Amino acid sequence: MGSLAYRETAAYQGAVRILQTLQAAEYEAYIVGGAVRDIQMGRTPHDYDIVTSAMPEMVIEVLRSSGFTTTNVVGATFGVVVVSYGEHSYEVATYRSEQYGEDSHRPVSVHYPSTFSEDVRRRDFTINGLALTESGHIRDEVGGLQDIEHRRLCTIGSSQERFQEDALRMFRLCRFAGQLGFSIDPNTWAGIEPNLYRVEGLSLERVRIEVEKMLLSDHVDLGLDALVRSHLNDQYCQQTTGGQSRRIPILPELTHLVDLPQAPEHHLHDGWRHTLAVVREVAPNLVLRWAALLHDVGKGVEGVRGFHKGRITDRNHDRVGAHMARDILTRLGYGKEFVNLVVWLVERHMRFHFYVANASADLHTWMQKEAKGGVFRETKELAIAMDYLQQLGVADVIGSGTKEASPSEMYGQRMVSMAQTMPVHTKDLHYDKGLPSMVQPYVKEVMQTVLQRVQNGEILNTPEALQEAGLSKYRRLKEKE
Ligand code: ATP
Ligand code: MG
Repeated sequence: MGSLAYRETAAYQGAVRILQTLQAAEYEAYIVGGAVRDIQMGRTPHDYDIVTSAMPEMVIEVLRSSGFTTTNVVGATFGVVVVSYGEHSYEVATYRSEQYGEDSHRPVSVHYPSTFSEDVRRRDFTINGLALTESGHIRDEVGGLQDIEHRRLCTIGSSQERFQEDALRMFRLCRFAGQLGFSIDPNTWAGIEPNLYRVEGLSLERVRIEVEKMLLSDHVDLGLDALVRSHLNDQYCQQTTGGQSRRIPILPELTHLVDLPQAPEHHLHDGWRHTLAVVREVAPNLVLRWAALLHDVGKGVEGVRGFHKGRITDRNHDRVGAHMARDILTRLGYGKEFVNLVVWLVERHMRFHFYVANASADLHTWMQKEAKGGVFRETKELAIAMDYLQQLGVADVIGSGTKEASPSEMYGQRMVSMAQTMPVHTKDLHYDKGLPSMVQPYVKEVMQTVLQRVQNGEILNTPEALQEAGLSKYRRLKEKE
């Protein structure tokens, strides 16, 4: 076992107390699932799930009499009792077995109490089928320890059957590949293709949760590559609103990037490998990862891909890609502000490279245009967006494998500092508190005028300069009265 740091945490100690309490009452109890996997890998678990031979009523009785607080949520979640210990809460589940049917995710029936072995065998991957005793001993009936050692993902039992039972497991597979950096066992991989049709029955909400976890993972390129090469991305899932069910394409727009040739003078990789390199390069933040994933989605599409003097061109791929990004993120249910920001990044990524390559180009005019463009409400938003753009731009350069990143970093920093001093709204102006009352009743007109003048670079954003410019505008308005 790797690090033992987890043993010092209150969360672990609470879990052990629960195990001990149940065992003292003659029941079996183990920590199971992700926590055991994480401990075995030397990571500190984020939460602890517990299984026991005790029926939910007994779990409640035994734990309450030992001073734990419990919430009985039987009916709703099939024999799971939520137990609190200090600040931490635990799901204590009675051993159960499950039968699956038509539904792509939910079992048709759940039986408990069942046995330890059956409970382990309803779980998805061998690495998630480990159990831990209160003394730190691991019980492994499915070969999970060996698979952790070999860093591979294998279903428990036949992958064909396990994916047919619950299609979400295929997305979980890609997500775990991303989070753990494990490879996918060939037999497990082979179970995907025959069950792609089952994805149709999954809800958008569940699929999106998995895609987001994948996007934020350390080995994001592995997760996304599995998603796309398995064609899970080409499937539809469903969204039900007001009793109406709609088919939602997951991410078919990514498929054409695979093996897409790119201009060799700018790129070492095909479109998909380049995209993966850029996604991996940006920080694990949902805005940046989505922008990186979609930044070149417009490349190679009809009307964009061209050949000029024997060279590959993708003119307008940024604008076309921005439209595609808007469609994709909107149908996946993202809010307007999130969509606008990602779309802005996709649409601007080539402009970033233009300014880096053309040191004499007028950066200020561009910044002024962005400030007035209506996308941002205040300087802070513009500065954050510009910071993201510089991170995306630098990652794009690194991911192309052909250029030095340092000029992009340097010019990117210039863009960010310029954005930080560019007022977007009158509230970004550093005027003296007394100014508005001095220009009554023309506050709005005066403020708008001085805002524009600061944006234009005619005056500084200082109390003195704003006061002078504001009063002069005020006098002109007065004269017209
Ligand atoms: P995470 O670190 O994301 O919480 P986890 O392995 O704990 O990873 P959970 O979704 O919290 O994943 O599920 C807890 C455990 O329940 C898993 O480890 C696995 O044993 C089991 N499990 C969860 N979802 C499924 C599923 N769809 N099919 C089979 N077993 C599942
Ligand atoms: Mg978990």
